[in-house]
Amino acid sequence: PASLVTVLFHLGEMATATQSLNEDTFQILGEEIGWNIKIVSSEEEDKELLQQFDINLDDEQDMDDEDLVPRPPVVTVMGHVDHGKTRLLDTIRKTNVSLKEAGGITQRIGAYQVSVHLNGEERKITFLDTPGHEAFTAMRARGAELTDVAILVVAADDGVMPQTVEAINHAQAANVPIVVAVNKIDVPGANPEKVRGQLTEFGLVPEEYGGDTMFVDISAKKNINIDKLLEAVLLTADATLDLRANPNMPARGATVEARLDKGRGAVATVLVQQGTLHVGDAIVAGTSYGRVRAMLDENGNSLTAALPSRPVSVLGLTSVPTAGDLFLVAPDDRAARQIAEKRAASERAAQLAKRRKVVSLEEFKEQFAKSEIDMLNVVIKGDSSGSVEALEDSLMKIEVSDEVGIQVIHRGVGAITQNDVNLASVDKAVIIGFNVRPNRQVADLAEREGVEIKYYSVIYKAIEDIEAALKGMLKPEF
Ligand code: GDP
Repeated sequence: PASLVTVLFHLGEMATATQSLNEDTFQILGEEIGWNIKIVSSEEEDKELLQQFDINLDDEQDMDDEDLVPRPPVVTVMGHVDHGKTRLLDTIRKTNVSLKEAGGITQRIGAYQVSVHLNGEERKITFLDTPGHEAFTAMRARGAELTDVAILVVAADDGVMPQTVEAINHAQAANVPIVVAVNKIDVPGANPEKVRGQLTEFGLVPEEYGGDTMFVDISAKKNINIDKLLEAVLLTADATLDLRANPNMPARGATVEARLDKGRGAVATVLVQQGTLHVGDAIVAGTSYGRVRAMLDENGNSLTAALPSRPVSVLGLTSVPTAGDLFLVAPDDRAARQIAEKRAASERAAQLAKRRKVVSLEEFKEQFAKSEIDMLNVVIKGDSSGSVEALEDSLMKIEVSDEVGIQVIHRGVGAITQNDVNLASVDKAVIIGFNVRPNRQVADLAEREGVEIKYYSVIYKAIEDIEAALKGMLKPEF
């Protein structure tokens, strides 16, 4: 490091040994000392690490048709608080459990699978048992794309509410098809037609109105039309997705939930996305590793193999992974340990580097100059729905040129939350807080993730800043 600092000094760059440099400076430094500089993202770095152990994540792209077999859809339940998400997940789980087989005990492991009869065929659906879009976004922020179909629960006695809209934004941002469950139709005064009308404004047009979204009127409490809802999920998946996986390869997937159990050590629920997971496999999940000692399903049955879309609770990891961590099977125990240890080391290095902001208005300009970006993504949070709407309206009216634009990927009333930061981090957005702030924890997360939060209490100030940023994004004309 000391000699590099000296070379930099001669190049006119005052740097210290622990400082971050921009890519251009690295290139110039490389030329000066006669080295080839290759700049890699952390994803690429991880890919290269895995390749050293003969694991190729890209091989999923060149899988032959004959390797692939249909797999069940994976479903997340989203919607406004108190509209019945938890109740729905409970009802679906209970109506499907064969109590005899399970000895009457079902365990919450974070996900479960149910059987559905459709056109005389037995099919399966996997449900992620943590309702809400917070879990969904946290997973996406870690690179785990688990959900194939979202069930949007809307209470027919309450209609579309702020978190209903948030859920729609999140699902649409992730390109996940939505099935609408109009819940609580047993309540006097329930108005399912009104919900249909309201959702049309968000691009969810019911099939019966000529659209392509399936709506099912249900009661999670009275167990009405739950079978129809499950059918709608399968029909939507069949119509819009090609859900297939290769069961004949080492397993890969994502961690759904994990905890430390006093007696059993680290217990992680993983969802297999490709391949088949076997007892005895050496696995790595994020920076945790170990060997699968036992696998249990949601009914406490022990399994020796888990196929694609099957959630299982795994015993045998030496530490507790984080929800959303991707897992994969390594060739042997030693490889698993080495991958985990190397990842932990580069994670520490990345933490240090991330201290400096990466998503700032300034950098948007830089990235745009390199044509990496032509949309400024923003998340708007404000102290009232009036202020949020007013701000969004004014932002949308900013006209700079045809080349650049602004896209509000999420808006809401209330403090800036972890969820906002996760979403901004995934979609490289700037957060605008209008008379609202994050709490300490959330501010720290934004700092770590390199997400910029701008605070305003006057609308025109916000408009001025954003307008300036957009102008800076304009490509120079030649
Ligand atoms: P969540 O916040 O979306 O998970 O909502 P919950 O599942 O906790 O439900 C909120 C409340 O609505 C609970 O008291 C449920 O029992 C009740 N609830 C849920 N579904 C129905 C339904 O279909 N009909 C009626 N009458 N009540 C329901």
